[in-house]
Amino acid sequence: VWMECLSFIKDNIKPQAYKTWFEPIKPIKLSGEALTIQVPSKFFYEWLEEHYIKLLRVALVRQLGNDAKLIYDVRMENTYSSNSPQTVKIPSSNRNPLKPQKVSVPIESKRELKNPFIIPGLQKVKIESQLNPNYNFANFVEGDSNRLARSASMAVANKPGGTSFNPLLIYGGVGLGKTHLAHAIGVEIKDKYPDKTVLYISSEKFTQQFIDSVKSNTRNDFIHFYQMIDVLIIDDVQFLSGKAGTQDVFFHIFNHLHQNGKQVILTSDKAPVDMQDIEQRLLSRFKWGLSAELQAPDYETRISILQNKLFRDGVEMPEEIVEYIAKNIKSNVRELEGVIISMIAQASFNRKEFTIELAKQIVDKFVKNTKKEVSIEYIQKVVSKYFDMDVATLQSKTRKRHIVQARQLAMYFAKRLTKSSLASIGSQIGQRDHATVLHACKTVDNLTETDKQFRKYVDDLLKKLTL
Ligand code: ADP
Ligand code: MG
Repeated sequence: VWMECLSFIKDNIKPQAYKTWFEPIKPIKLSGEALTIQVPSKFFYEWLEEHYIKLLRVALVRQLGNDAKLIYDVRMENTYSSNSPQTVKIPSSNRNPLKPQKVSVPIESKRELKNPFIIPGLQKVKIESQLNPNYNFANFVEGDSNRLARSASMAVANKPGGTSFNPLLIYGGVGLGKTHLAHAIGVEIKDKYPDKTVLYISSEKFTQQFIDSVKSNTRNDFIHFYQMIDVLIIDDVQFLSGKAGTQDVFFHIFNHLHQNGKQVILTSDKAPVDMQDIEQRLLSRFKWGLSAELQAPDYETRISILQNKLFRDGVEMPEEIVEYIAKNIKSNVRELEGVIISMIAQASFNRKEFTIELAKQIVDKFVKNTKKEVSIEYIQKVVSKYFDMDVATLQSKTRKRHIVQARQLAMYFAKRLTKSSLASIGSQIGQRDHATVLHACKTVDNLTETDKQFRKYVDDLLKKLTL
């Protein structure tokens, strides 16, 4: 029977495809109308299902009639699962003849799998969405500054994968609600479409998982895991900059999801045009959908956000204090909330009333902290002190490794913490050109990814420079 099927299939596809996808299949058993075939891997099975299921069905029905069933016996290629084959039954006839339903798979291995992206079979695994239910649309205050982003997000939540907003990229400065909105979309989709697999993940965590998967030789499982998700939310994609390997794998995952009508939601602190060190092909994908900006909230919106927060916390505050806060904290919703939280804490701790005086103190602290502009001079001082050298040494032409490293770190932080251009940073740190600074930033980025000790330097210095 299988030989007959094969010859039919062979006549209907390209020889190369036949060789790749059908020659490796072994027929195992025929009982009644059910044919069992063995395929070498889960990936193989998925590929067949995706690309050749119609053809397979026609071939089988020709041989076995309308009740033909195909059973896959998947040989797992990796060691993480049990050695026994896993079986997936695909009834050939169901309501939608083109799209077979996956029927539950008996899983032999009962072991808990530590690695979240390793899947022991082909069943729809329950994936923990990692969503925060407190970040929802109901408590995301609408205003001119976020109207577009908010309504695009709601459109996506209503019809994931079904709008032209794919991917949806939400971008804007720190503390303006990107993470909140991204979660809100996921939370809403989970509510409307409980069967959809939604996953929220930060870019850092995604990167870390990817690196781990490479180390443990499970890169393919990593990819397959992500390709099974219906709604993928990746937060802060600017952190992918300079990470070529992670970008590459994300590119493939993205393409797969997009082609299959799955929804991708991304956030970033920059517009795509301003993203540095992100591959062009990935940037061009980002632009396929919609990029919606979250802007700093205007005065009215700030008032509403404060009132909303107070209402939710069950706290009453005199209007003039709310206005005072809204007037003085302008560019960051997280800080607006922070002031309220501090006010409540202070007032209850000291059994004080809410007063303008108290508001002033707290607002001052917040404003000072964020306004503290770090200068390149200061960065050089802190870095050289940390490595126990003087600024002149740091700036010198020497190629001694630890001095080069200190110099590169100074350049890196100058880029990260000031608004100076690469050229201006270069000239201030020992008369170097912009290419040297760019190279330094990349080197530091790479080393932080691969070198623990170095990462500690970066963390320590960042604390010293910003606290
Ligand atoms: P981002 O990811 O852009 O840095 P977040 O999403 O973490 O910002 O938002 C910071 C805080 O501000 C969160 O607590 C969030 O709930 C709150 N927030 C931001 N925008 C709004 C809004 N429009 N309405 C209510 N809360 C908001
Ligand atoms: Mg965020």
